[in-house]
Amino acid sequence: TVRTRIAPSPTGDPHVGTAYIALFNQCFARQHGGQFVLRIEDTDQVRSTPESEQQILDALRWLGLDWDEGPDVGGPHGPYRQSERSAIYQQHSEHLIEQGHAFRCFCSAERLNSLRAEQMANKQTPGYDGHCLHLDAAEVERRMAAGESHVVRMQVPGDGVCKVQDMLRGEIEIPWEQVDMQVLMKADGLPTYHLANVVDDHLMGITHVLRGEEWINSAPKHMLLYQYFGWDMPELCHMPLLRNPDKSKLSKRKNPTSITFYERMGYLPQTVVNYLGRMGWSMPDEREKFSLDEMVEHFDIQRVSLGGPIFDVEKLSWLNGQWLRELDTEAFVRAAQAWALNPEYLKPLVPLLQTRVETFSDMLPLAAVFLSGKVNPDPALFAHKKLTPDQVREALQLLLWKLEGLRHWDKDGITAAINQIAGAFELKLRDLMPLLFPAITGQASSVSVLDAMAHLGPDLTRFRLRQALE
Ligand code: ATP
Ligand code: GLU
Repeated sequence: TVRTRIAPSPTGDPHVGTAYIALFNQCFARQHGGQFVLRIEDTDQVRSTPESEQQILDALRWLGLDWDEGPDVGGPHGPYRQSERSAIYQQHSEHLIEQGHAFRCFCSAERLNSLRAEQMANKQTPGYDGHCLHLDAAEVERRMAAGESHVVRMQVPGDGVCKVQDMLRGEIEIPWEQVDMQVLMKADGLPTYHLANVVDDHLMGITHVLRGEEWINSAPKHMLLYQYFGWDMPELCHMPLLRNPDKSKLSKRKNPTSITFYERMGYLPQTVVNYLGRMGWSMPDEREKFSLDEMVEHFDIQRVSLGGPIFDVEKLSWLNGQWLRELDTEAFVRAAQAWALNPEYLKPLVPLLQTRVETFSDMLPLAAVFLSGKVNPDPALFAHKKLTPDQVREALQLLLWKLEGLRHWDKDGITAAINQIAGAFELKLRDLMPLLFPAITGQASSVSVLDAMAHLGPDLTRFRLRQALE
């Protein structure tokens, strides 16, 4: 039976790209009467967080996607979280070493850095030079016994061409000399993506891997690993990446990329699924509006076109309007209620609102800050006592960039970012508040703007800062 999977890394907001790939995997599996698995790839201990994992699961559920096996629903091939499978990878790595397909590498970061610098200077493709490839067994034993830090790397053929089959592209050829002796196990004893991904796809019985085309260059490494283990390789299908309207790769710098943003802005989940289904794919009769069930019914992976699909928020909004207009009154009320009165979203707002109101109707103007998309501030509100209009723009732009780099979106991080920008203009944090109130809330004063930014989240905050700069 056909088995597909989505394998998100919980290192950030739930990305529309993840939902897009998940959707195509689910459609492919369902169309073949197969199963769809969700696996969490959290081997990057520094960047992975349980909050991000929860948000990804919630976002995919909100869209109406559903998986047959996963960390939240269980299944016969668990655990479905890579951080809980360390022993499995360890064992497989040892096996590769014993078979001579992988080796221990003791090279220091300094050595690897200078190697890289040298290769760059000589215009060579950077890659490992095989320094530890032929260490004798006794030396390896001795250095391991001495507790020397090391990684495990895979062997790669020195010459020839690797040929991988792709369901959409046919045969792809990549010269072996371009393929690095990839690290499989890190010094901390945890696997890299490549080892964990191949081992799990095999153990979880995955038959078809549909994933973003950014992984094409990893395919030769994966193919080798399947050969080394003596396993059949799943069929590979690399999907075109989503793009901004200017054709560059979809990025949060130019477009909101978090599903949470689209949920908060009041798009219907069925519209977002419908729109993602149109990314590089179309119904046989080319109709624009279709449901998930209809997509499954008519699905054909060969209808995916490789030209980069453009994720255009204006088109999404247009499509959402179509969906909204076709809801009957009951359905409209239900959907609007689910959106506006979502308790998960409202609960954290209560402390911000409760002390400021005497009646519920007082709440509406304050709550509007959190329920609106655009806030349309009066430009006059941006006049500043200590900054010229150009400096005001500069400060907002710098803040926008600073916030893009923020890893953890919370009040402390946001405060630190604002402080830095204030410092650059020799101002205090509170001097920037008169700009942030209108930009973020549309008003000269309102609920705490720092609380508001924390609660609105990165995408909506950046969206409003961009609006203020227009
Ligand atoms: P940044 O915005 O900083 O460039 P990113 O958009 O690449 O980051 P990641 O955290 O690297 O975001 O990716 C999260 C997930 O979304 C990954 O599974 C990745 O494959 C997917 N993804 C990212 N960008 C795209 C895209 N343009 N099209 C399809 N999937 C994407
Ligand atoms: N964890 C990888 C990602 O986040 C999975 C890539 C794959 O599907 O192989 O995109």
